[in-house]
Amino acid sequence: MKYRNLGNTGIEVSEIGLGCEHLEKKSYELIKSVIDIAFENGISILDIFMSEPEVRSNIGKAIKGYRDKIILQGHIGSGWLDEQYGRTRKIDECIFFFEDFMKRLDTDYVDIGMIHYVDTKEDYDNIFEGEIIQYAERLKKEGKIRVIGMSSHNPIEALRAVKTGLIDVLMFSINPAYDILSEDTDIDGLFASKTYENENLNGINKVRNELYQTCEAMNVGITVMKTLGAGTLLNEKTSPFGIALTVPQAIHYSLTRPAVSSVLIGCNSPEQVLDAVKYENASDEERDYSVILSATSKFSAKGRCMYCNHCLPCPSRIDIAQVNKYLDLAKLSEQIPETVKQHYSLLNATAQDCIACGNCEKNCPFEVAIIDKMEEAKKVFGK
Ligand code: SF4
Ligand code: SF4
Repeated sequence: MKYRNLGNTGIEVSEIGLGCEHLEKKSYELIKSVIDIAFENGISILDIFMSEPEVRSNIGKAIKGYRDKIILQGHIGSGWLDEQYGRTRKIDECIFFFEDFMKRLDTDYVDIGMIHYVDTKEDYDNIFEGEIIQYAERLKKEGKIRVIGMSSHNPIEALRAVKTGLIDVLMFSINPAYDILSEDTDIDGLFASKTYENENLNGINKVRNELYQTCEAMNVGITVMKTLGAGTLLNEKTSPFGIALTVPQAIHYSLTRPAVSSVLIGCNSPEQVLDAVKYENASDEERDYSVILSATSKFSAKGRCMYCNHCLPCPSRIDIAQVNKYLDLAKLSEQIPETVKQHYSLLNATAQDCIACGNCEKNCPFEVAIIDKMEEAKKVFGK
């Protein structure tokens, strides 16, 4: 298992994490077996948004003995209301259910205190101008949470939150199907196949792209939900592209977006955990999503780098995707962010090592003018 920095929090997380939502209504024995196999395979981060009391208690029991080795992502604003899950914005309920979370998980701190599911402007305003953000900041000050996060499916509100500098972590829905949707797509539409009928399909949506790049520039780590599009991307009949992606391809797509630290895969059996972690030993060919996406007219990214590295090998050993990623980030703002400069300077080979052989351009399925990009990167970064 590989581990990544969670933005600038100082926390390291496994690049594959466990989304626990499918463990609800499952027996303790099953929950224990899923969590044990996840740990045995190096998974170190768990997302638990569910408010149902029994699943919380069962997960708490299952992680006994592991607590100091795992990163818990718990949610502020997820409540058990009228015997069912619901979002709450009442501060007394937020406090009650977050304390309930810590009690049932048998812990006196939560690593990531995630403000839960903020998808509308009204909700965002209410949270960031009201008591909920203050509560999150108080929890952080008291050491009950280590960092503040926010979960969202809406790139506009997510971008607003990141730009405030108040959140350390963003949990966001990322997969190639969502990425092509316009920024104001209704959340309910994310799952409807008809949503894709009239989309102006031109690769990754501009605002979504800006969101990922801003997170990278501000060093805000992203934890990803919906990597597999709730399974729809794995079947050609349900995939909006009319072609199926494999689990490693879908995971690789999310992991190659800027700022992404971990993809949280929802599993309800030990076999599903093993399926997800197969990614770690998958070959470059097995992970390569570019061939699939470039083969569909519904995902047109001609001339735009997707950071897939299908263009390798390079005789100068340049990590072409990384160079292009840092170049795109540098072009986002007038002044190149220090973090981007630092990351670029740490590359083993940089754009100045390009000998313009053109091998990469023949291999790029998205027809990126790579030699020109290398020239540009050399000018922008001075090497
Ligand atoms: S240049 Fe082409 S092949 Fe290389 S990383 Fe970018 S999109 Fe992928
Ligand atoms: S053109 Fe430059 S970046 Fe592309 S393979 Fe050749 S040396 Fe590498």
